[in-house]
Amino acid sequence: MTEVRLDPYQGRYARRARGMTASEIRALFAVATRPEIVSLAGGMPYTAALDRDAVADVTTAVLRDSGPVALQYGGGQGVAALRERLVDVMAAEHLEVAPDDLVVTNGGQQALDLLSRLFCNPGDIVLAEGPAYVGALGAFSSYQGHVIHVDMDAHGLIPEALDETMAALQHAGRTAKFLYTVPNHQNPAGVSLSRARRDALIERAERYDLLLIEDNPYGLLDFKGEQLPCLHTMAPERVVYLGTLSKIFSPGIRIGWAVAPAPIRAKLTLLKETADLSQSNLTQYVAERWLATQPWLEQVEEFRELYRERCDAMLDELSRHLSDICTWSVPTGGFFVWLRLPDGMDSKQLLPSALQARVAYVPGRAFYADGSGDSEMRLSFCFPPSEQIREGVRRLARVIRDQAALRAAMYDATAQQERTP
Ligand code: PMP
Repeated sequence: MTEVRLDPYQGRYARRARGMTASEIRALFAVATRPEIVSLAGGMPYTAALDRDAVADVTTAVLRDSGPVALQYGGGQGVAALRERLVDVMAAEHLEVAPDDLVVTNGGQQALDLLSRLFCNPGDIVLAEGPAYVGALGAFSSYQGHVIHVDMDAHGLIPEALDETMAALQHAGRTAKFLYTVPNHQNPAGVSLSRARRDALIERAERYDLLLIEDNPYGLLDFKGEQLPCLHTMAPERVVYLGTLSKIFSPGIRIGWAVAPAPIRAKLTLLKETADLSQSNLTQYVAERWLATQPWLEQVEEFRELYRERCDAMLDELSRHLSDICTWSVPTGGFFVWLRLPDGMDSKQLLPSALQARVAYVPGRAFYADGSGDSEMRLSFCFPPSEQIREGVRRLARVIRDQAALRAAMYDATAQQERTP
C-alpha cells in the first residue's frame, strides 16, 4: 500500500505556491515513456536528427578558442555575438530587429516566467487563447495571474471573441495585463492566425490598449510554405516577441530570447540577473558557433520535412479510422494535432483505457485554466517515427470506438427501460 505523506512545510509556503500542482503532462510522463507505449503525448523535438558530430566539433572549438570566457559568468542581456546571430534567425521570418533589442533567456519558458513576474499581481487578469500552451498557463498561475481564455478556431484566435471578452471586462471595471498568443502552428491546436486576423488583432490591441505576448517557437517549422508577418513587425511597441532555439536546434541547450520595447527589456534584463545571474555563457557560445559555422537553415529544412511526413502519417491514419466520429485540426506546421471526441466523451476518463491499449496523449483539460477541454485531446507527431504514429493512432481509434459503442449500448438500454411500462 502506498503511504500518503502530509507535507510538513505546507504552512510555510507563500500563497502563490498553493496552486502549484504537477501538470497533466508531467504526471503522464512516467507512464508514457515506457517502451511498450506509443507516446503521442510529449512535445519533444526529434534531436536524433541533429548532426551530433557537428555539435561536438562546435563545442570543442568553443572550449579551445574561447574557453576562459565561455566558462565565465556573463551579462544579463546575453552574449552580444549570439544576439547578432539570433537577429539572423528572426530575419529568416522577415522580422527585423537589432541585437540590442533582445534579451537572451533560459529557453522561451524562462521569458514567460520573467514576464509573469514582471506583470502579474495576484488576481490580475491575463488573456490567453483557449486552448493555450500548458507551460504558459503554469507560469501565469505561479504568479497568481487569473487566465481568461479567448476562443480560437481553424484560423486562430477569434477577434469577435476578444471583443466579447473586452466588453465583459470593461463592464466589470477590469483590465487585462496582456494577451498571450502563439500565432504560428499553435501548441496545442496546430493552427495559425490568418493574415486577416493578424490585422484584426493588431487593430484591437490599439483599440483596447492591449500588450501582446507573441510566442513563436514553431514559426520556421511551416508545412504550407506560407509565412505570415509576425505581430511584432506589425506593431513593435505593442508586442513582446519570444523566440527559442529549442525546436530548430536543441531544447537541451536552453536558449530563448525576448524582443521587447525598451522599458520592458530593461526590466527583463534586471529580472534575468536576479533569476540566475546570467544565462549559461557556455551554451550561448555553442549556439553562436552553431549558427555562425553550420548550415542551420538546412537543418531546419530537414526538421520541417521530417515533421511534415509524420504529421501526414497521423492525419492519414486518423482519416482512415475516426473520420465518422471525431474531428481534428489540420496543422499548418509545428508538432501537434488537436482532436475533438464525440459529444459527451471525456478524454481524461478515457486515458487509463488508452494506456492499457499502449498509447498516450494529453487530455484537453491541461490546456485550459478554466476546466474546459473535456472532450478534446492533444496528439503530438514530433517524436515517434511515422510507422509508430500510425500504430498509435490505430490503438487510440480502437479505444475511442469501443467507448463510443459502449455509450451507444448504454443509451439504447436506458431508452428501452424508459419505454418499458
Ligand atoms: N512556448 C511554446 C508554445 C512551447 O510549445 C514551448 C515548448 N514546448 C515553449 C514556449 C518553451 O520552450 P523552451 O523553453 O524550450 O524554449
